[in-house]
Amino acid sequence: MKATIEAAHARKLKVTGHLCSVGFREAAALGIDDLEHGLVVDTEFFSGKKPDVCPSARAAVAEETKLDVTGAEIQGMIRDLVAHHVALTSTLPVFEQLVPGRPAPQARVLDSMSADARNDYLSTRVRLSATPDSPWPAMFVKEMQFEREFVKAGGLLLAGLDPTGIGGVLAGFGDQREVELLVEAGFTPLEAIHIATANGAQFLGESERIGSIAKGKQADLIVINGDPSKNIADIEKVQIVFKDGIGYDPQKLTDSARGLVGLR
Ligand SMILES: [Zn+2]
Repeated sequence: MKATIEAAHARKLKVTGHLCSVGFREAAALGIDDLEHGLVVDTEFFSGKKPDVCPSARAAVAEETKLDVTGAEIQGMIRDLVAHHVALTSTLPVFEQLVPGRPAPQARVLDSMSADARNDYLSTRVRLSATPDSPWPAMFVKEMQFEREFVKAGGLLLAGLDPTGIGGVLAGFGDQREVELLVEAGFTPLEAIHIATANGAQFLGESERIGSIAKGKQADLIVINGDPSKNIADIEKVQIVFKDGIGYDPQKLTDSARGLVGLR
């Protein structure tokens, strides 16, 4: 990891990672720029941690649910990340899928999948919701608390996704869900929108060009029929998508991708 980070930085590139055997503080000391997923994948507090070995996610998460995000261990880790200017990518929809009792997947998401991908995804969800003693309900709440604590300490939180896992978090729809879940986590709607837009641009060093709406900036934006600053679910009511200043009909874009996720 150290060699990768040095080679990337020599080329003025940034490095982010979904870590498993390396803990967050170790990665911060090596100079990593961003960490994917949050506390869920940080194994530095796992009692069975061994160098170069990724522990079972379930075992590591089960232990993590017992940690207090306001306690010395996690607060110390957060301070260390902030001091090293390490950003964090929130991917709450990825973990929401693992929690029984959460809202059912939306029809527009299922319609975008191929029949095989849809069957795989739905049967995995049914299986997970029947798993006794799942650590995920507690971990999902803890992850939300952790992300709030990270921002409170001055950390740069980004909004991201991951189409892997059990396969139900799709680009676009999942990004909207991420913003809604940031609000559920305790951020105001405007803070959540800022995390998903301006913070990403700031991390990339592209704030002069993208990340907010201003004269002279690139016209990548969406027009919404509603007010997501008051009701965050309005973020799904997209009327027009502008990319490089050209407007697209979101319904036609969605229709053009129907049944394709899982095929290409
Ligand atoms: Zn990942």
